Amino acid sequence: MAEHVDCVVIGAGAVGLGIARRLARAGREVLILEAAEAAGTEVSSRNSEVIHAGIYYPKDSLKARFCVAGKKALYDFCAERGVPHRRATKLIVATAEDQHPALAKLKAAAEANGVDDLVPLTAEQARAMEPQLHCTAALLSPSTGIVDSHELTQALLADAEAHGAILACHAPVVGGRVGEDGIALRAGGAEPMELVARSVVNAAALGAQAIAGAMEGLPRAEVPPIHYAKGNYFTLSGVKAPFTRLIYPLPVDFWLGVHVTIDMGGQVRFGPDVEWIDTPEYEVDPRRADSFYQAVRSYWPALPDGALQPGYAGVRPKIVPKGVATPDFLIRGPRDHGVPGLINLFGIESPGLTSCLAIGDHVAGLLA
Ligand SMILES: Cc1cc2nc3c(=O)[nH]c(=O)nc-3n(C[C@H](O)[C@H](O)[C@H](O)COP(=O)(O)OP(=O)(O)OC[C@H]3O[C@@H](n4cnc5c(N)ncnc54)[C@H](O)[C@@H]3O)c2cc1C
Repeated sequence: MAEHVDCVVIGAGAVGLGIARRLARAGREVLILEAAEAAGTEVSSRNSEVIHAGIYYPKDSLKARFCVAGKKALYDFCAERGVPHRRATKLIVATAEDQHPALAKLKAAAEANGVDDLVPLTAEQARAMEPQLHCTAALLSPSTGIVDSHELTQALLADAEAHGAILACHAPVVGGRVGEDGIALRAGGAEPMELVARSVVNAAALGAQAIAGAMEGLPRAEVPPIHYAKGNYFTLSGVKAPFTRLIYPLPVDFWLGVHVTIDMGGQVRFGPDVEWIDTPEYEVDPRRADSFYQAVRSYWPALPDGALQPGYAGVRPKIVPKGVATPDFLIRGPRDHGVPGLINLFGIESPGLTSCLAIGDHVAGLLA
């Protein structure tokens, strides 16, 4: 006989753990099923680790709402739990006068999302803050920060476990069926198991579509396509960090552009770019450096030849192909697909890390 559990969260990334923690704190019995050997080894550990302010997303979108609420919740959580983080602040820079209207548009978009702390700067004011920066104008975002994503996932897991949640690793969910008395799940791995849950939250990111597609009783139209957009990073070698703040160019073609971030260890990195791939893989091709030199020199002309080294890569779980505008997070619950107790999360790319606690609140609300 299959074991019965109240609630299963599939996927122990920042988002799955944000949800599991929230449900466990609400007194629910929570089992987290994770395919890998540990929590937080996929998208949540291969990103820019930026706590986004909530500037770029369309007004009233889930991304705008969750990013703004999630940012505040994340700063509070990190402060309470001692998760390494810093309000590093960020400059969004125009490098030609014809980009100035786009800066003004971003400021207006941010204000529509409730982010009303952006400060317009002249080139001189920006250079007084970052002497190596080339720009013609900039916007300062005081609430943008950085976080140690590994420590964050560990702290989320610890909090979930402190409220009774259990993490099972090496437990890839391979199929499911919507039944009379709950949702039956099959997990493979070394110790295959079958269980029946009252609520199931599919937060498997790159694996979310495969799980939803293997769920008997869920309408096929409920499973969006998956596309993989790899983001490559290059690190700086042999050169002192040129900036103390994060530096972002203006967004182009549904992408934030090659930007400069700094991790909690002070390591500077550039990226991510966008490389559409057929299957997730994480090798960084050194030849991609050419386009990085060109992009970075538009705002940091002093970048020396040979200073960029291949870093790491992450893969964005996209629900639209190349050339299509980035859509909102897709979070589908019983009201959408008619299956009681089932929530599927698709396309949880940036700002998913920033939003993890707010997504937890939202999903708990959908299951209440
Ligand atoms: C290049 C890049 C840069 C980014 N930069 C930022 C940023 O600076 N700021 C920000 O806020 N966001 C950023 N993001 C987005 C953010 O990283 C993600 O939205 C977030 O980490 C997603 O978390 P997750 O828990 O949904 O996914 P994951 O961390 O991938 O967790 C999903 C888990 O599900 C598991 N899994 C998969 N299939 C199965 C299965 N069948 N059974 C059981 N388990 C399964 C996986 O092993 C994984 O551990 C970035 C993303 C990328 C790719």
